[in-house]
Amino acid sequence: SDAVTLSGLTAWIRGFAALIDAHKEELTQLDSAIGDADHGTNMDRGMTAVLAALDGDEYPSSAALFKKIGMTLVSSIGGASGPLYGTFFLRFGSAAGDNDAIDAEALAAALRAGLDGVVARGKAEAGDKTMYDALAPAADALDKELAAGAGLGHALQAAADAAEKGRDATTPMLARKGRASYLGERSVGHQDPGATSAALMMRAAASALG
Ligand code: ADP
Ligand code: MG
Ligand code: MG
Repeated sequence: SDAVTLSGLTAWIRGFAALIDAHKEELTQLDSAIGDADHGTNMDRGMTAVLAALDGDEYPSSAALFKKIGMTLVSSIGGASGPLYGTFFLRFGSAAGDNDAIDAEALAAALRAGLDGVVARGKAEAGDKTMYDALAPAADALDKELAAGAGLGHALQAAADAAEKGRDATTPMLARKGRASYLGERSVGHQDPGATSAALMMRAAASALG
């Protein structure tokens, strides 16, 4: 099936960094309602460091590329999102493996592995009002579309749509993980910042890899 090359994967990450830059005020605004008003600056600092790492070196394999991305995010983002996105990309890279191209099924498996890493790290479940609520529907949609025989482009559009729907569905949720959980009932009625950045990551994937 459709191959995703190392340059495609790099374009995805550059696209994600560009979307974070374009939406950083919005992400921080969302975090000011139910957190500590730093999600946009956290993600922008992390993705700016990732861009510097991409510009500074050649990465021979998906595993090497995503190991660097994950470690850069862990070391440059102070907040909860650093280890969570860092683990996502480290696991994504391990699953993608020591090669310079992966097929659609391997991409879906890598996304699933990344999601499992987020859960291993943060113990979020469906409905806890976190990035999980955007990422899990995206992984499910990607698997479902590919199993039904869809091409990668169509499947990734469906995954990005599912992530945005999952993001929107966080608004009425009561936060059960992270800083927002300290607010209890007062977290209801606000869109989760991490689910919002995760939806941007999936939209960037659909744009770059579809
Ligand atoms: P911090 O809360 O440390 O300031 P950020 O503001 O950068 O970190 O990130 C907050 C986001 O992290 C939340 O909106 C939520 O989506 C996500 N998050 C927090 N805790 C968890 C967790 N345990 N599992 C999954 N995602 C989480
Ligand atoms: Mg925050
Ligand atoms: Mg913080």
